[in-house]
Amino acid sequence: MPELPEVETVRRGLAPVFVGARLLRVEQRRANLRFPFPADFSARLMGRMVTALRRRAKYLIADLDHGEALVMHLGMSGSFRIEDGGDENIPGLFHNSRGKDAAHDHVVFILSSGKRVIYNDPRRFGFMLLVKQDLLAAHPLFRDVGIEPLGDALTGATLARLFAGKKAPLKAALLDQRLLAGLGNIYVSEALYRAALSPRRAAGSLARKNGTPTPRADLLAKAIRAVLEEAIEAGGSSLRDHRQANGELGYFQHNFRVYDRAGAPCPRPGCGGTIKRIVQSGRASFYCATCQK
Ligand code: ZN
Repeated sequence: MPELPEVETVRRGLAPVFVGARLLRVEQRRANLRFPFPADFSARLMGRMVTALRRRAKYLIADLDHGEALVMHLGMSGSFRIEDGGDENIPGLFHNSRGKDAAHDHVVFILSSGKRVIYNDPRRFGFMLLVKQDLLAAHPLFRDVGIEPLGDALTGATLARLFAGKKAPLKAALLDQRLLAGLGNIYVSEALYRAALSPRRAAGSLARKNGTPTPRADLLAKAIRAVLEEAIEAGGSSLRDHRQANGELGYFQHNFRVYDRAGAPCPRPGCGGTIKRIVQSGRASFYCATCQK
């Protein structure tokens, strides 16, 4: 399952190709992916111009000039390939090793620029929907989705407001998609490490009684943004590729400080602790009990 930084990397790779281009033709090669394609999918896209390519949680949203939006999810194994004459490019370094078997090319966008964007998805857990732009916020996919962890919305004050009074462990609160959108297990572990906060600490401890953020809340907000931005810069990462022997590894996963490093010495200078693995709500958490309090 791609994590948020991978989806954002894909968005940044596709945006210059899609935005401002017209969809001359769209080839839909199957009736369904995870779900059936919308009725008259190709016909509704034909001739439309893409005015923006956005991301919300792990969804890509292409705004079209007739008021509909094309909502796309990569599922487990989806990738986009850009063909420009003889050149090929798959946004997101971690996808370099896959997405080339033409048998799994399910949708082809032929653009007015002469480029083609091909959606490839061997396991077909991805999907595409058409939704009116003004109905997106109320759509079941989006209406309960929390704050974007990338960008200006996430501050210490935001975390304090979201977590005030919560006795749940910090780890569980950070993974709650109704509070924060698209934050996954890997990046939560890494962000908590950087902020030197234990995943077991009560989430509510980041807010003072009057609701204002503690200094720890500010540190954590900064750490979350930094970890995500660095992963995007490095081209993302996912466990899936980590295990794929012939796959190219996203650079960032060589730099995990705690994730999947149980038993390793804590990399914080002068700490001397050892990375532990514990299970919280069925998910593995990795942390150093010596320096993360
Ligand atoms: Zn430590």
